[in-house]
Amino acid sequence: MVNKEKRKIGLHLRLTDTLSELLEKAVRLQTPIMQCFLITQSGQRYAEFSEEEIKKCHELRKNIDALYLHASYWVNLAGCQRNGWRNFQKELELGKQLGFSHIIIHPGSATGCENKEQGIDYLARALNKTLKTETDIKIVLENTAHARKTVGGNLHDFKQLLELIDQPDKIGFCLDTAHAHSYGYDVITEKGQDIFLNQVVSSIGKERINLLHINETQEKCGSYIDKHADFGKGAIGNEALKRFMNHPVCKDVPVILEIPLMENEQKEHEVLKEITGWNE
Ligand SMILES: [Zn+2]
Repeated sequence: MVNKEKRKIGLHLRLTDTLSELLEKAVRLQTPIMQCFLITQSGQRYAEFSEEEIKKCHELRKNIDALYLHASYWVNLAGCQRNGWRNFQKELELGKQLGFSHIIIHPGSATGCENKEQGIDYLARALNKTLKTETDIKIVLENTAHARKTVGGNLHDFKQLLELIDQPDKIGFCLDTAHAHSYGYDVITEKGQDIFLNQVVSSIGKERINLLHINETQEKCGSYIDKHADFGKGAIGNEALKRFMNHPVCKDVPVILEIPLMENEQKEHEVLKEITGWNE
């Protein structure tokens, strides 16, 4: 009998200067998969990508099974004005060039639109335009913590969106536990998790869950506040997060941990090791 390989669990790492430095860190931390932005943590600018830097990244990335790119918050495809389209194109191009397999985007907010529905329409149009040519990097939409004009807090938004997408098989989704909790879903109790994940399956389909962000938060359920917390110090609790991760709907899906800034790399490595141990 073939031993089925367990799904991968990795870290979101903060880019301080160059991507090659970050990939070196990923190797030191032994994270099998990783996620990052292409903009630096403090500078609000894109990292530098000289020819030499790209070569270095290609060499280093051989040590990592999958790279997930998190789009910058300048990208707001549901916006009726200034939707960050050029940033999105730049990040897609760089992502492909650097060997990222997925790009995670927040669906965005319907700024400048009359209502959320119009924002969903704009988002669908932008995605359809992209999907016409895009085949090398998978576009993954993440559920968010916010309400009102923000798309993707309510799972029903994704169902509505998929109905407007020409090639729905090319779209994936990422589930963030902290965002779901802050939006108002019960991801703590067994029953709540069943209800939430059943809703996920009926609105987007099990096969479209591409990634899990197993995150903790101290914020109240329904607060709409997006703030992550350390494991063991939050409102959701380790027991619930572990159960969520191993729920039949999620148990084979890769996991990225978006933990708050740690004192040192040793601590980050310890968290990764601990949560990897939750894999059933
Ligand atoms: Zn997330």
